[in-house]
Amino acid sequence: MLHASSIYGVVSAIVAIAASAVALITIRHARKTHRSLLAALPQIVWTATPGSGVDYCNRRWYELTGFTESQTLGWGWPDALHPDDRPVALENWEKCRLSGEPFEMEYRLLNAAGGFRWHLVRATPMRDSSDAIVKWFGACADIDDQIRNQQLLEEQVRQHTAALMEANSLLQSEMRERTLAQQELNQQNDRMVRELTKRSNRATNLAKMAELLQSCTEVKDAFSVVAGMAPKVFPELRGAVHLFNASRERLEMAALWEDCTLPDNAFGPLDCWALRTGHMHVVLAGDHSAECGHVTSPDHSYICLPLLAHGEAIGILHFQMIDTGEVPQPVLFTVNMFAEQVGLSVANIRLREALRNQSIRDPLTGLYNRRYLEEMLGRETRRAVRAEQGLGVLMLDLDHFKKFNDTYGHEAGDTVLRETASFLLKSVRAEDIVCRFGGEEFLVILPVADLKVTQARAERIRSKLRELTVLHQGRSLGMVTVSVGVAGLPRHGTTPKELIEAADAALYRAKKEGRDRVVVADPAPQAAPAQPQIIGMGQP
Ligand code: GH3
Ligand code: MG
Ligand code: MG
Repeated sequence: MLHASSIYGVVSAIVAIAASAVALITIRHARKTHRSLLAALPQIVWTATPGSGVDYCNRRWYELTGFTESQTLGWGWPDALHPDDRPVALENWEKCRLSGEPFEMEYRLLNAAGGFRWHLVRATPMRDSSDAIVKWFGACADIDDQIRNQQLLEEQVRQHTAALMEANSLLQSEMRERTLAQQELNQQNDRMVRELTKRSNRATNLAKMAELLQSCTEVKDAFSVVAGMAPKVFPELRGAVHLFNASRERLEMAALWEDCTLPDNAFGPLDCWALRTGHMHVVLAGDHSAECGHVTSPDHSYICLPLLAHGEAIGILHFQMIDTGEVPQPVLFTVNMFAEQVGLSVANIRLREALRNQSIRDPLTGLYNRRYLEEMLGRETRRAVRAEQGLGVLMLDLDHFKKFNDTYGHEAGDTVLRETASFLLKSVRAEDIVCRFGGEEFLVILPVADLKVTQARAERIRSKLRELTVLHQGRSLGMVTVSVGVAGLPRHGTTPKELIEAADAALYRAKKEGRDRVVVADPAPQAAPAQPQIIGMGQP
């Protein structure tokens, strides 16, 4: 295959040969011989005059194009040009013809079969002594194979380039996708790590709260633990606990954390959907379909949960999102556990309270029982002796109580005992201790009181009890009177036994002297001074 540069060389050489041949022909007038030489060349050779166009073409032209001499000479040669190449070729030729610069270009020439083949054309002018162009010498070399090869190569290169570019862009998009997938994976990992850390903190704090709740002995302690731990378990939530009041008509605030905003501290049970349905109630920000009446924060999602102790609703737990947006799923899952734990510990505390009460309190009157009385009286007498302070003891016994039972029945008797117990609690100071000693007998301990104060208190109780009206099943049970025995520390002894015996003896006297009265115990007999003993002096 010939390179374009070598073809240019060949064409230039042919043009030079043709020019010199024609010159020789001109000079030596050996026209015929040289025409034969030109005719034998495998390339097209032609001459033209500036004025009248092509005046000679060698045989190759006529063989290739199939044109006749009359179609060619003069200005007929452009008809052999491919229509796409013709305008440029004519314009270039016209420029060179006027400027005298060598004409050189590639174009397609018609062949006799009706097809076109690429040719490289070069023409140079010949000038006379006055430098005027007198003749143009041109030659055309068939470069169709080279051009087609070149086009083929270019097409192949184009195809390869396109395939490479496609593969490249595929690789790039794959790389992009992979990078994106990697980034997404990294973000997911980060999110998961954050979520797991949050979950683990939640679980740790929930366990911590359970431990603290277990050591609470009173409900109010439990709710201060809840208020302290809730922001740690749920940093994204603020909240409050409301509990039913004694009549179960209203719910009152028991705890609040993170400045939870609520319109009122108390509300009715119908104001909360969680209490109405018995289930967790979630309200998303802006959703007005089932809002709770005790909340006025439509910009924040909130959750209400019934607080259950032994299956009974004792109140609600209310949580609000601190930020706007939905409540995260893990939070929804954990608030249930949180509520269960709080409910369970309240139930436990109440159970323990009930058990403790059972062991120290009398179930009929709610007063301390005799066992607990002995324990407390022991403590109080020791304290009084240590502090050198007084302590009063009242032993009370209802008069003719048997008659109450016989007249109105045992239940009525119970009512009298309950009413008397409540009357006694109201008649003494908060630090005084009232116990049911047994049957219709009561004992009151008055720490720090001297005998005079104790006696006055006894007298007041006796006289006021007469005024008490006890109703049972709509009818009055008549007047209740009481006999009271009074003893005081240190006058009647310094131990529980001494004091109780002294008070009991005084009570006995009160009964004996006619009942409905107060009797102060006789002073304890003075212990006789110890006599010196002489051992071995004839005594038995
Ligand atoms: P006195 O003035 O001498 O104290 O006479 P009394 O009838 O009060 O005394 P008594 O010891 O003869 O009777 C005490 C009665 O108290 C007998 C008993 O049935 C009654 N009683 C004791 N415990 C209860 C109780 O828990 N409920 C009721 N309804 N009655 C009780
Ligand atoms: Mg009695
Ligand atoms: Mg009695």
